[in-house]
Amino acid sequence: KHKAALDARSADNLRSPICCILGHVDTGKTKLLDKIRQTNVQEGEAGGITQQIGATYFPIEAIRQKTAVVNQDEKLEFKVPGLLIIDTPGHESFTNLRTRGSSLCNIAILVIDIMHGLEQQTLESIRLLRDRKTPFIVALNKIDRLYGWEAIPDNGVQDSLAKQPRAVQREFEDRVQKTKIALAEQGLNSELYYKNRNLGRNVSLVPTSAVTGEGVPDMLKLLIELTQNRMSEKLMYLSELECTVLEVKVIEGLGTTIDVVLSNGVLREGDRIVLCGMNGPIATNVRALLTPQPLREMRIKSAYVHHKEVKAALGVKIAANDLEKAIAGSRLLLVGPDDDEEDLMDEVMSDLTDLQKNLDKSGKGVSVQASTLGSLEALLDFLKQMKIPVMSISIGPVYKRDVMKATTMLEKAKEFAVMLCFDVKIDKEAEEYAEQQGIRIFSADIIYHLFDAFTNYQKELLEVKRKETAAQAVFPCVLHTIKVINKRNPMIIGVDVVDGSLRVGTPIAVVKIDPATQMRQVMTLGRVVSLEVNHKSVDIVKKGQAQGGVAMRLDSPANQPTWGRHVDESDIMYSEITRDSINTLKDAAYRDDVTRDEWLLLRQLKSVFNIA
Ligand code: GDP
Repeated sequence: KHKAALDARSADNLRSPICCILGHVDTGKTKLLDKIRQTNVQEGEAGGITQQIGATYFPIEAIRQKTAVVNQDEKLEFKVPGLLIIDTPGHESFTNLRTRGSSLCNIAILVIDIMHGLEQQTLESIRLLRDRKTPFIVALNKIDRLYGWEAIPDNGVQDSLAKQPRAVQREFEDRVQKTKIALAEQGLNSELYYKNRNLGRNVSLVPTSAVTGEGVPDMLKLLIELTQNRMSEKLMYLSELECTVLEVKVIEGLGTTIDVVLSNGVLREGDRIVLCGMNGPIATNVRALLTPQPLREMRIKSAYVHHKEVKAALGVKIAANDLEKAIAGSRLLLVGPDDDEEDLMDEVMSDLTDLQKNLDKSGKGVSVQASTLGSLEALLDFLKQMKIPVMSISIGPVYKRDVMKATTMLEKAKEFAVMLCFDVKIDKEAEEYAEQQGIRIFSADIIYHLFDAFTNYQKELLEVKRKETAAQAVFPCVLHTIKVINKRNPMIIGVDVVDGSLRVGTPIAVVKIDPATQMRQVMTLGRVVSLEVNHKSVDIVKKGQAQGGVAMRLDSPANQPTWGRHVDESDIMYSEITRDSINTLKDAAYRDDVTRDEWLLLRQLKSVFNIA
């Protein structure tokens, strides 16, 4: 009955969409939020904008006022009751605003600095938005920095642009064009919002200045249009409880509290709730529902306003017992009168246990650790795309026991004896232990940086391996003698590379069949010490690269055959391959260096050397 009442499609039951703001550092995310929040002095308290926990609520009245300058024809109808904008910009809140792998963020603003174009975290934001299928708009911020910009504070951007000097307009168009091309390289079609005829296909670009406020009305109008357009009817009405933990915080006098976003439904003081904890599920009762005291109520001592009941969408702090091990990014479920608490506990823990499905079946892979459920999920998504296998996952600070788990890789696959740690503390003891055992810990708060650190480490390992196995890495070649330059000590022969590539370090041999016994005899002439082409020292000579021949100098092994007696100009010379040398080339350290033609030649040499 309760639910039916909630579903009723009356104006009282409309809920507000939730908006996040993402982008590279210093693009102006914080400043844009400040600008949107700013109350217009003449209008007093702009229609009751309220500061909540981790979010700001803009009732539709405030948005109507703020968009008036670009809605003079009043064509835009407002169907949603308002907009909830998450205050903490960046990936963390976006990734934690999650439920079962999808996002609770209904619309996002991706901020790009028009002077800088796409930057690293811009790319990461695009990837996150795409992974979570979140509709978004691009704020092309800092237009006031275009040289010669003449500001008209808080104006609609089309009008402002029309009034700029020609040179400013040209620079603007030029930079927009560059951004569109850069976005296209990321697979995104984009268009200035006022030219965008297909909101589903093209991302809308809104030029803004967080300093002058120009374009901010356009941006708000677009947010409303897009949410109304893209949010299903159902999402616009209050229904079942949908709530996510954004942050876990210790507050003096309250103990450990959770800051949550209630994206749908109603939450009441005294409600029984369950959520995901580091050591298993947590079930507790809501002791208090808190939002900040409005600024004008400075006389009141308590920092918070208590609520008996709160309705979506809003950001609220929950005080309750047993929240110490709560995980940010966890869903919060309500235990109703007919619900089985145990079932709900399993359900809520499945958010974490389901991520175990990402673990590599072979049991080989890196260890991954993150601070929140949202960031762990995002990191795993990314590693999957990058085809990096994962062996174990964990949430929270890195302790010695976590490193111990990773040490199993030392034997199995050294290249994965690595911990990728996203935004987590690393315990001192754990760090020392890792150092001792040879486990590499990479820690970063940008996913890309972790990936870069990991791939660089892989390259380093391969380089070490190449050095260790260089003597076994024999690339195939076939040589004809042009002339003998020096018969012995050292043997120097002028050769023509008729197939493959001749390299410094390669052992050279002649293969003979004894006419009497028909036995195959491999005679090692020596390893290449140096190569000269036209009196210039080189490391590699490929077939066809040296028309005049190559002077090949060999070392002098103990049983070096005598030129003129055991071997002579009529013998074909080969790089001396073995089963081991072929296996070495098949290893990851060399795999990318061996061409298709070289594999074909190796197959021919295998029969020359009679290798199975
Ligand atoms: P965030 O790291 O994305 O949150 O960036 P901030 O909001 O902290 O802004 C970074 C810097 O750029 C600050 O010095 C801002 O004052 C400045 N800034 C932000 N937006 C604008 C803008 O539209 N125009 C100009 N000229 N400066 C801006």
